[in-house]
Amino acid sequence: MALNLKNAFYTDLLPHVTSSDKTYEFVKEICQVMLEFIEQSFDRSTRVVEFAQPDELASKMDFTLRDGPVHLQQIVHYCRQALQYSVKTGHPYFFNQLFAGIDVVSLMGDCIASAANASMYTYEVGPVFVLMENEVLKKMMEFIGYTSGDGILAPGGSLSNMYALNAARFKMFPESKTKGIRHLPPLVCFTSREGHYSMKKGAALLGLGTDSIIPVETDDTGSMNASDLRTKVVDAKAKGLCPFIVNATSGTTVRGAFDPLNAIADICQEFNMWLHIDAAWGGACLLSKTHRHLMNGSERADSITWNPHKLMGVPLQCSAFITKHTGLLKECNSTHATYLFQQDKKQYDVSYDTGDKAIQCGRHNDVLKLWLTWKAQGHCGYEQRVDKAFDNAKYLTEQIVKRTGFELVSQPLFVNVCFWYYPVSMRHLPDGPEKTEKLHRVGPEVKKRMTEKGSLLLGYQPVKDKCNSFRMIVHSSAVGHADMDYVLDEIERLAADLTL
Ligand SMILES: *Cc1c(COP(=O)(O)O)cnc(C)c1O
Repeated sequence: MALNLKNAFYTDLLPHVTSSDKTYEFVKEICQVMLEFIEQSFDRSTRVVEFAQPDELASKMDFTLRDGPVHLQQIVHYCRQALQYSVKTGHPYFFNQLFAGIDVVSLMGDCIASAANASMYTYEVGPVFVLMENEVLKKMMEFIGYTSGDGILAPGGSLSNMYALNAARFKMFPESKTKGIRHLPPLVCFTSREGHYSMKKGAALLGLGTDSIIPVETDDTGSMNASDLRTKVVDAKAKGLCPFIVNATSGTTVRGAFDPLNAIADICQEFNMWLHIDAAWGGACLLSKTHRHLMNGSERADSITWNPHKLMGVPLQCSAFITKHTGLLKECNSTHATYLFQQDKKQYDVSYDTGDKAIQCGRHNDVLKLWLTWKAQGHCGYEQRVDKAFDNAKYLTEQIVKRTGFELVSQPLFVNVCFWYYPVSMRHLPDGPEKTEKLHRVGPEVKKRMTEKGSLLLGYQPVKDKCNSFRMIVHSSAVGHADMDYVLDEIERLAADLTL
């Protein structure tokens, strides 16, 4: 079958020819490549990454674009190579990011979405997907505790957080849409010092400036200190600044901390500030009866960011921005383009044209993969996934406490486990700057070794003012307790002869 493609070119595929034979063959071959990759991804004996330096990679794959066409067989080969040198983010030993795993239903959803190639702005061009998006957002609102509201899927949590900043500013100063920031008082925003950096990016982009983001202190586990928030709001007002939004985080990116939503909501109420919850990472906790208490008070928020492409396991990108203020998104972002959002359309009710709520024009169909996955497993399946992740993280935490050479940075509240590893060669050192300085270098050294060996991928970073620690993110549905043991064993192996 492969032979048939050898002398075929893209002009042998639909719609260039009337027969679909070659197209069938080509698609089947690519599917075969994808299937082999999925199989390998779940096979613990394969490497997580076949790492190559950029120049080495450039010599292994032919990246050059040329005048003439190549055979379709060559295209199949490029696909194979692309996957060969890609990081297997679906591998059970990939713990590097807040996304992991391959959900096969989701993956198929993404493929079908590209086949349909709709844009999400009008019912006219994406009827099925507009209704799916409405349903998904409605369900998410129910889990948050909203009785009504509005929302939009955005290309990532950073953008969803920007939607929040913009909506909050518009709610307080509707003239900001037309007049810009020139006529506004000096607006300030409060977020935990362990909150996500996207708030700063959003502030810069919206013309508020990064200095308008005031960091609030966190406690030992990484949660926002509500009394420090109140003090800082009072201070800001005394200085003539205008507090307009508090960003509470549910599931901080590094430590997985949850800010106290009710205490923060009280302060927002007292000072008339918008409450946004950045639950890009932690939002999925709402799906678990056991763990949703971490987000008690979520229904009091004005808006929320929730990324299904993280703990809900759908492929990048899929993020929801949801607000309880019906109609606000449209008021805030609409420009009434008359070539797209004609109000005199005769063929259907134009309230289904949701595109003018977005800051984009064309918008990718991120909903099909989520909707299919949610259908396939139900709320129950998602609840089990979340509960399993918590269980793995608890097991890992217990093992870290038990093992010599390992130390927790803080007690985990979620599925992020941050810990230090002391290689044998430094364990005799007394506590002090020398030991801390050496410990700081363990993360980068071990990371280099694991990448080159391809046996494991996890992150490292400093937490607050402390030196580098490892960060394990436990959430792939493909992993269990034995994999947690493997991670600790492998770190020991990688660092066995490490002298710093
Ligand atoms: C990941 C993350 C974001 C950013 O989401 P992207 O989809 O990567 O843009 C924002 N906030 C928190 C807390 C996150 O963990």
